[in-house]
Amino acid sequence: MIVTKDLHGPDAFFQDLRQAFGRTLAQADACLARPDLVCDALLGQAWDSFEGNLAIQREGQPPVACQKGCPSCCTLRVGVLAPEAFRVAQLIRASADRLRPHGIDLEARVRAADAATRGLGEEARVTLKQPCAFIARGVCLIHAVRPLACRGHASHDRRACADAAVGRRHSVPFSGPHRVVRLLVHSALQAALHHGGRAWHTAEFNHAVVLALDNPQALRVWLTGGDPLAPAAMEPEQHAAQEAWFANLLPLPATG
Ligand code: SF4
Ligand code: SF4
Repeated sequence: MIVTKDLHGPDAFFQDLRQAFGRTLAQADACLARPDLVCDALLGQAWDSFEGNLAIQREGQPPVACQKGCPSCCTLRVGVLAPEAFRVAQLIRASADRLRPHGIDLEARVRAADAATRGLGEEARVTLKQPCAFIARGVCLIHAVRPLACRGHASHDRRACADAAVGRRHSVPFSGPHRVVRLLVHSALQAALHHGGRAWHTAEFNHAVVLALDNPQALRVWLTGGDPLAPAAMEPEQHAAQEAWFANLLPLPATG
């Protein structure tokens, strides 16, 4: 886990985490027999670093209102990086037999959600109010592997979220530390993926998971430089600017 609290906090955290992700990716070629382990290692770094830094950044801040059974925000469009989509697809496959007796079919749910939302922009998604494929009775069924976007979305006012979800208000007092730390972790992973020659774009969650489910080799293809989630890419018009930013970052130290 990377934790930084000094004066240069955000930049130092970003650079340290980018390097940590880079070290993990540098070992990927030796792990192609178990690409799921590379995926787990990257996500473990991301989640631990997010939680560790969030705890520091939230010191002295008002509490957030988020809790189990509070699903108003789980209708929004979610952007994920490739490892996040692969991990959720893996969980869907692994949990199918266990969930079937309870009448829960996560694969069918995400395929239906994808059919309802594919190609819709942010505003259209807000209007549509399509619940996330993974919410049931207000509980996130994939909580342990939920995307960074979900981890970084937190509010100080549950009522404000509920009112915003039905169009009764336009602003919600979101938690700044959640947003900032999530953005730093997401960007650091993107930068490391870019440096390591892997597809780094943000992908729409439903479509990305469906693509991962459709192709059991998708994770291996991605790890070896392919882009099996390309059809789910979000905001491709911003890729050139992001790429230029990555290219201007300090080079990562050589790993051996
Ligand atoms: S962001 Fe709002 S709706 Fe979502 S869990 Fe937190 S309080 Fe509930
Ligand atoms: S993955 Fe979980 S936390 Fe994220 S939108 Fe879906 S139900 Fe909500």
